[in-house]
Amino acid sequence: MSAIDELYQEMIIEHNRNPRNFRTIDDATHTAEGFNPICGDHFHVYLTVDAEGRIEDIAFEGKGCAISKASASMMTQILKGKTETEARELFDQFHKLATGELDPDQQGKDLGKLAVFSGVSKFPARVKCAVLSWHTMSSALDHVKVISTE
Ligand code: ZN
Repeated sequence: MSAIDELYQEMIIEHNRNPRNFRTIDDATHTAEGFNPICGDHFHVYLTVDAEGRIEDIAFEGKGCAISKASASMMTQILKGKTETEARELFDQFHKLATGELDPDQQGKDLGKLAVFSGVSKFPARVKCAVLSWHTMSSALDHVKVISTE
């Protein structure tokens, strides 16, 4: 197993066991619910966006496989304090990373620890698990309440 694979597994296990920002936000300005029917992943994402478009708080809750849960947990960490525009750019980068379309030189530059998810590009069924929370987040910003990866 390569170093990145080992790191990937460690981080997935750790975030799955101890997810960050795993809670609801009662006064959220944006929320959405996301489903991945293939795997059974089902999450709610909550955001509080201030008047300047900055994400003051972000949280998630729900049930899913280890990859979907770890991805959601790490997403909330990287997006807190970012602007809506930055969040959409990071989603675009993360989507390309997870589907293997990101230039290798770019990997890890803005995504930081999320670069470990480049491993899912080899497993198309797992790509949907990894991107579900990100799709749900961007739908929430677009005021779309429910999304499905199908
Ligand atoms: Zn899954």
